[in-house]
Parts: sequence; structure tokens; C-alpha cells
Amino acid sequence: MNKKLISFVRDVYQTNDFIPLHAPTFSGNEKAYVTDAIDSTFVSSVGKYVEDFEQHIEAYTGTAKAVATVNGTAALHTAMHMAGVKPGDLVITQALTFVATCNALYHMGAHPIFVDVSKVSLGLCPVATEAYLEKNAKLNSDGVCIHKSTGQRINAVVPMHTFGHPVELDELLAVCMKWKLILVEDAAESLGSFYKGKHTGTIGDFSAISFNGNKIITTGGGGMVLCSNLEAGNHTRHVTTTAKVPHPYEFYHDEPGFNYRLPNLNAALGCAQMEVLPTFLKQKRVLAEQYKTLFSGSHFQFVVEPEYAQSNYWLNAIICPDTDSRNVLLKETNEQGVMTRPIWQLMHRLPMFKNALKGDLTVSEWIEAHLINLPSSPSMLLQ
Ligand SMILES: *Cc1c(COP(=O)(O)O)cnc(C)c1O
Repeated sequence: MNKKLISFVRDVYQTNDFIPLHAPTFSGNEKAYVTDAIDSTFVSSVGKYVEDFEQHIEAYTGTAKAVATVNGTAALHTAMHMAGVKPGDLVITQALTFVATCNALYHMGAHPIFVDVSKVSLGLCPVATEAYLEKNAKLNSDGVCIHKSTGQRINAVVPMHTFGHPVELDELLAVCMKWKLILVEDAAESLGSFYKGKHTGTIGDFSAISFNGNKIITTGGGGMVLCSNLEAGNHTRHVTTTAKVPHPYEFYHDEPGFNYRLPNLNAALGCAQMEVLPTFLKQKRVLAEQYKTLFSGSHFQFVVEPEYAQSNYWLNAIICPDTDSRNVLLKETNEQGVMTRPIWQLMHRLPMFKNALKGDLTVSEWIEAHLINLPSSPSMLLQ
């Protein structure tokens, strides 16, 4: 299988050079728009591309208000800040995620509770979340969710749409309603992924998208906060731009703000990338189909989108029959210049989160031991 996989990937990308996991593609108006931004001299946080980019994302996702930020981590920080997460609060999230989800929490003085993921979505499991809360939490007389053994407030639930596969949002939302928790989606990886026809990141009150260089589209570095309420969205925009009250010349800031606004230069790249997003999505579905066929009948199981969702297939993944075959596959492909990667080490194994509260993590640990990501860049050859 390993040889078959290597020659398949080389065929797809038509090269004998190193093949990365996910490389950006610039085949549209990227250079024209970036040049135009430079010529305008508006290269920083003021300029027409920033607003255009936000409007592109609003139109595409259907969110009430999109607010562009310098990166996805800043978008997550802003989203959780707007959701009311305060120092000392607890936030339920996945141990199976990229570290940025937890870094954003950490720097707010909040603490994660790690709950297991679902085998269907690879994202936060609603059944495990309910079970954790049932056992460890209570609603006090003011309707605030309290962690019974620590007395801390549990404020929000932050699921992450792993590799672009949407989590079970209806069920998670029901758990959030029951326990009076705010839903904040880490949609960093899921631009172009839909849950029952709704774009990911539009179900939670606030969500975050990333446009890092390895994501489905890139602005170099960049992110977006999606706000499901227009008024909250306008406030979010205010907070990300130093909370300056508009005035022809006076400097007055009415609350602690962030300097998180995406520069115009990066937004110009984003506007061009949004034009090719539908093409990337088509190419990635073709590639996913081809991987599925390649692995069918083998001992490797290709990870498909949940039946309730349409995934962007940002990073393709397989489940290996055991950890030994996983390690051999990782070694042979990487030695041959075909980049494959294991999934992130679980968050509770990292030194800064080793004492975090957690529930049973059986599924997360099983995925950690079995999953490999495969080269997933869009390619013109995938039509
Ligand atoms: C990429 C990513 C982020 C953060 O994005 P940056 O733009 O790199 O800060 C956050 N969460 C997840 C799950 C990601 O994959």
C-alpha cells in the first residue's frame, strides 16, 4: 500500500520533488490586488480590501458580521473575549486540536476542560460533553454553570471542525442551551464546510477562521471572527481596532481594545483567494474521492465527511490498522519526499496543559495512535 500511495501522490502532483502536506496556490488575481494595495499606499489596517474581504466572507458564509484579524489565534481570542470568557473561567474543548485553540484560552487566563471527540466527526462529541457536565457540573440559582469540585464557572464550549469535517452542531447546541453555555466554533480549518446547509462558524455566537499559509485559502497570515449578531459584530470590530471612538482628530478609546485588524496588504491576497475558493473546493473533493478509491478494500480507512455535512476536505486523513503500520507509513513516505504527518499530540500531554481538567479521552487517544494526514493541496490536475 505504501508504494501505491507514493506513486499515486506523485501522479496527482506530477513532480519528483518534495510534496508538502498543503501548499498555497496563487493562480488568480493575487499579484494584481496586492500590487494595487501597494500602489494605493494603504498597506496597513485601513484600506478597501479589508472591508471587501469581510464582505466576501459575509456573503459566502451567511454570517451577520465578519471581522478580519491578523491571524486565526487572534480571531479565537477575540471570539472568546466577546463570548464573555473571563480569567479563571473554564471552557470545554477538545484535547484533539491544534494548540492555538488552547493558547488563546491560556492567554485569557481561562482554563480548558478536555472532553472526548466523536468518531464520526473527529470533533467535540456532544454525548461526551453532556456526560461530563452531568457528572461534574451544576447550574446555580442564577443559572450559571459551575464546575462542582473547583467552584469555577464553566462559560463556553469550543468545538473544532477537525480537518474541515463539521462537528455535530445541533446536538452540541442543545447541550449548550441546557447548561447555559455559549457556543464558540473554532472554524479555523473549515472555510467551505457546511453543516446541514449552513456554513460552519455561523451556528455559534462567535467563531474563528484562519487564513494561515497552510489553510484552504491564505492571506499570508490572517483570520476572521464570524459574529451571528450584527450588533455584537459591530462591537467586535470596535474591540479589534483599539476601541477607538470615531472622531475627526481626537483620540478617545472607551474600553480595553486589541490591535488585531488585518492589514490591507493581506486582505488584498484574501480577496483574490476568495475568487478561487470554489475551484479549490472542487479540486479537493476530486482528490478525496480518488484517495477513497485508492484505499477501498485495504486495511487503511479513508476518513470521509459525516453524512450530515459537506466538508471542505482541507486535510485528507486515513486511519491505519495499528500504530506500527502508521509508523512505517510515516517513515517511508517522508523518506520518499512525500510529506505525511501524524495528528497533533493531544493537548493534555503538553507541559502547560498537563494538569487541566479532563473527561474520558478514549476516542481521542485512539485517533492519535492511528491517524495520518496525506498531501492535500489543490491542484489544477484534479478536475
Ligand atoms: C490554524 C488553526 C488555528 C489558528 O490559526 P493561525 O492563523 O495560525 O493563528 C486555530 N485553530 C486551529 C484548529 C487551527 O488549525
